[in-house]
Amino acid sequence: MELLRFKMVDAALNHRAVEVEAPEGRPSDYFGEKVFGHKAMRKYLTKSTYEALMQTIENGTPFSREVADSIAAGMRQWAMENGADHYTHWFQPLTGGTAEKHDAFAEPDRKGGVLEEFSGKLLIQQEPDASSFPSGGIRNTFEARGYSAWDPTSPAFIVDTTLCIPTVFIAYTGEALDYKTPLLRSISAVDKAATEVCRYFDKSVGRVFSYLGWEQEYFLVDESLWAARPDLVMTGRTLMGHESAKNQQLEDHYFGAIPMRVLSFMRDLEYECLKLGIPVKTRHNEVAPNQFELAPVYEEANLANDHNQLLMTIMDKVARRHSFRVLLHEKPFKGVNGSGKHNNWSLGTDTGVNLLGPGHTAIENLQFITFLVNVISAVYKHNGLLKASVMSATNEHRLGAGEAPPAIISTFLGAQISALLDKLEASPSSEAIRFDAKNVFRMSGISRIPSLLLDNTDRNRTSPFAFTGNRFEFRAVGASDNCAEAMIVLNSAVADELAAFKCEVDTLIEGGAKKEKAIYEVLKRMIRSCKAIHFEGNGYSEEWRAEALKRGLDCETSTPVVLGRYLDKKSIEMFERQGVYTAIELEARTEVKWEMYVKKIQIEARVLGDLAMNNIVPLASKYEAILLDKAWKMKELGLDAKADIELIRTIQEHTAAIQQLTSEMVEARKVANRIESTYERALAYHDNVMSYLDPIRKHIDKLEEVVDDQLWTLPKYRELLFIK
Ligand code: ADP
Ligand code: MG
Repeated sequence: MELLRFKMVDAALNHRAVEVEAPEGRPSDYFGEKVFGHKAMRKYLTKSTYEALMQTIENGTPFSREVADSIAAGMRQWAMENGADHYTHWFQPLTGGTAEKHDAFAEPDRKGGVLEEFSGKLLIQQEPDASSFPSGGIRNTFEARGYSAWDPTSPAFIVDTTLCIPTVFIAYTGEALDYKTPLLRSISAVDKAATEVCRYFDKSVGRVFSYLGWEQEYFLVDESLWAARPDLVMTGRTLMGHESAKNQQLEDHYFGAIPMRVLSFMRDLEYECLKLGIPVKTRHNEVAPNQFELAPVYEEANLANDHNQLLMTIMDKVARRHSFRVLLHEKPFKGVNGSGKHNNWSLGTDTGVNLLGPGHTAIENLQFITFLVNVISAVYKHNGLLKASVMSATNEHRLGAGEAPPAIISTFLGAQISALLDKLEASPSSEAIRFDAKNVFRMSGISRIPSLLLDNTDRNRTSPFAFTGNRFEFRAVGASDNCAEAMIVLNSAVADELAAFKCEVDTLIEGGAKKEKAIYEVLKRMIRSCKAIHFEGNGYSEEWRAEALKRGLDCETSTPVVLGRYLDKKSIEMFERQGVYTAIELEARTEVKWEMYVKKIQIEARVLGDLAMNNIVPLASKYEAILLDKAWKMKELGLDAKADIELIRTIQEHTAAIQQLTSEMVEARKVANRIESTYERALAYHDNVMSYLDPIRKHIDKLEEVVDDQLWTLPKYRELLFIK
């Protein structure tokens, strides 16, 4: 009988690039054709309905029942004309991913026929069966029901034949049970605080938006090979596997030619994305073999996040069409780079000014510096919390792995901005921040640094939070994360900082200081007090860890402990001040995170234990028996069997160690499972269960090196990692 592994490798080699039909027309023709956006709204809604909806989207003005019915009717007509026969409230539960429950437009009319029904009531609010979504105990304390409610600021869209309506998901008593609700709250909080600060500089600013441009990294593996790896199927990562002889050391994958099969997948994916209004722009290979990246143009943060969530679903679907599986796990393969999701973040006004980009006038530059310093200061005060926002059982393997950002949050500003802040601290006045007409910051001694430099400060890839000329790039976000989590913390912390800043400046002004002088004065103090967060060196170095500890930055790496930062007094107070989370919500959500952590490690431990005991040990023993037989016979014949006996000994040592460690791990799990408190249980899983995974793996990987290739059933790294 032929080994499954060889059959699967054969199948993988036989997968050819799928012919993708060239889209009809140009991107501008089909961009957003599956979205109920402005174009469709204008066509399918009456003028007054459209205007009422715009009032809601722009100013949050509530609309009447009649308007709701009228929107629903227009939306349904558009959806049905575009092939939809079902609709769903689309939301982002705390389990990750998106949830949907499809209902048909067609409803029995009680006269033996059906009517296409979709009222304003159904559009605006529904009651999905909330019991299967985690609530961290909120539902035990409160009313059991959960509601989904329409978010009109993110347009509805069609996937396959279903109209998807973006919604928030909240408990009956109003607590958020999803990611969108607090994201929207944090967007309002930063809008409010930032707008007030903007008015120091420009009275005409009415609103501040937060923008997000994500860059999504991912791996592709052939579907046949994936199916023959239970660890990939069940945990999203390989729990074992000896490194391939050829890996990423030649760096021949990055920006190399994209294989035909992958290119065909990417074309297909991009077409789907564009039709859904996701403005995808760049695609390229990443550093690791089989690793790729996709990035759109940045958008308002709520929409950008919906688009990222949608992308992750679409990717999976399209990949299957091409006999691939997408891996969004942060560290699917040992020894090669992991995947992140860089979150490019900025704030901009309704007057079209990017608050994190240098301006043209002295006052614009003071505004820029004000926002820059406030962001840095917020990141300093909440660096542990910011780390908590990206910590998970899966991202834990990536952060600090020597190719991804370290598990210490610091900011990188580049030489120019660093010099500028130093100057500002020494002499807080307009002299310190002179830029010329081309955004060239003038420094004494260096008369002209090309403006290019300011847009290109980011040469330090080791920084988790880097200023990149007109935005910050938060690189610690995990590839499988919901970006909202990081954006919620960032927006809220910055809002809180801006509010405190305004308070201090106003106090100085009331005390008789001139506005500009007061601003400089407060900025100077802030620059001085948040110095510890600023780091331009190599974030991977051991010295940095020691230094960061001295500076009082959060250096904790245990996920359950870091997640607890959400419950620090200063975090709770900050979130409550900003109206983003209540203490109850924070407790519930952290509970959910700990629970998820336990479950993920538990699954990994089970899968590894199973594979170790019923796959690896038996096949290694089989090979060992063959060797024993051979060695025995050789001895009988008086031949030297030393090498074989050595090999038998090696195999025996490894299998014995695997058996021993696996049974200890099972015991550790039993002990952990008996622990009542979720936090303590998560800690036990981290300290006493997860700690077995790598040692067991090490022995398995050693066996993979020596056991007959003809007996090894699991596809190896060299097969998984190189798409032909
Ligand atoms: P990189 O050099 O890091 O690969 P790109 O130049 O391709 O980055 O941009 C990465 C992302 O940053 C894109 O999604 C882009 O739209 C986004 N971006 C650019 N400017 C801003 C901004 N002002 N605010 C937020 N995101 C931005
Ligand atoms: Mg980037």
